[in-house]
Amino acid sequence: MTFWRHLVDPSFAQPVRDFTENTVVPAAHDLDEKDLYPVDLVSQTAARGWNTLALPERYGGGGAPMEHVLATFEELGVGSAALGISLITIFQSQKIIELYGQESLKQRWLPRYADGLRASYALTESGHGSDIRSLDTKANRSNDGWVINGEKAFITSGSAAQFFVVLAETPVGVSTLAVPRDAPGVSTYEGPDAETFGLRNGPHVNLVLQDVTVPADALIGEEGRGLKQAMVTLANSRTLAAGISLGIARAAFDGAFDYAAGRAAFGNKVIDFQGIQWYFAQHAAEIDAARLVTYQAARDLDAGLDIARSSSAAKLLAGGLATAVASMAVQVCGARGTMQTEPFGRYLRDAKAYEVAGGSSEVLKNTIAKSLIRTAAPQDA
Ligand SMILES: Cc1cc2nc3c(=O)[nH]c(=O)nc-3n(C[C@H](O)[C@H](O)[C@H](O)COP(=O)(O)OP(=O)(O)OC[C@H]3O[C@@H](n4cnc5c(N)ncnc54)[C@H](O)[C@@H]3O)c2cc1C
Repeated sequence: MTFWRHLVDPSFAQPVRDFTENTVVPAAHDLDEKDLYPVDLVSQTAARGWNTLALPERYGGGGAPMEHVLATFEELGVGSAALGISLITIFQSQKIIELYGQESLKQRWLPRYADGLRASYALTESGHGSDIRSLDTKANRSNDGWVINGEKAFITSGSAAQFFVVLAETPVGVSTLAVPRDAPGVSTYEGPDAETFGLRNGPHVNLVLQDVTVPADALIGEEGRGLKQAMVTLANSRTLAAGISLGIARAAFDGAFDYAAGRAAFGNKVIDFQGIQWYFAQHAAEIDAARLVTYQAARDLDAGLDIARSSSAAKLLAGGLATAVASMAVQVCGARGTMQTEPFGRYLRDAKAYEVAGGSSEVLKNTIAKSLIRTAAPQDA
């Protein structure tokens, strides 16, 4: 049973919901427990066109509105946030090339996503997380391209990625480069921080770049514009991250409601206690509200509006809410909620991890505050 109606055309969203129920949900526990990259599921979503929904048709994409992309991430997130975050890194890497890449780079890489290309977006280093204004990974011009040296950390999807979009410091600032997995000098390893407790889609590997040579057009957009590009790309993907968090919240809510409706205590069903009903009533209102904020952010993107504020607000609200709902779900299900065989612990771990990954809640608040201050500043100052 689910309480959540589609917020886009059901003829688009219902097949994603059906796929989630029939194919993603049965696989989710195993992926999480064994910390596996969902290779097979990512191939299946690619075959349905869901990995490339947002890409223009001329690059083999669906040219779909962002609200359809969001609906896809929300529905898949109900089944497995690990699958969701696998698709987020695919989305981020294709979006940044689509927005900023040279045409030759677009032609080389973008059509491959429709065939299921797996990719990562590598910004973080062991010494640089929220603050990536300077980096230890360096890229310098060579005769016919760029040479990259350094090491990135915490890279989601890195265990299976065939392609990396990498942030590196170049002579004029932080820049973005496209790096194939099979380029000489590229390797990955599982460092001590590879195993997260949530969003487990395979180890979050370290990516080593040792004298890696890439052609001139591997520089995505202008040199020194990497931070600005990251802000825009992350503003896009944060809307989808919010969708995944909403999916987690919905799954936890529905699972806990089902349990409470069937479980007897003191001559009643657990759902008959008003104290329990209020948990669900409060969270139902909050999920409804967070869904509206998130879908509005997607629509703002489609309308070409600046979404730094709305996408950050969506991820902030949905991320915190998912953790709260998952925690409630464990509580309402009692001992059953704490069992390894039940999904509630996974929901809680995934939800909490997503309050850090892809922009921590504190960084999101900074972004929202900056936007407010910008808006309040005198226009002619
Ligand atoms: C599951 C997971 C997946 C990830 N996947 C990727 C990936 O694919 N690619 C990638 O590049 N990185 C990835 N990361 C790394 C992630 O982007 C960083 O963890 C995140 O940017 C925070 O950096 P940090 O962990 O170094 O925390 P720090 O930057 O050290 O921050 C520590 C704490 O201080 C807070 N803080 C920092 N600056 C401020 C500030 N100005 N104001 C207020 N509070 C502040 C933070 O919010 C946090 O609470 C992933 C992380 C996780 C957990």
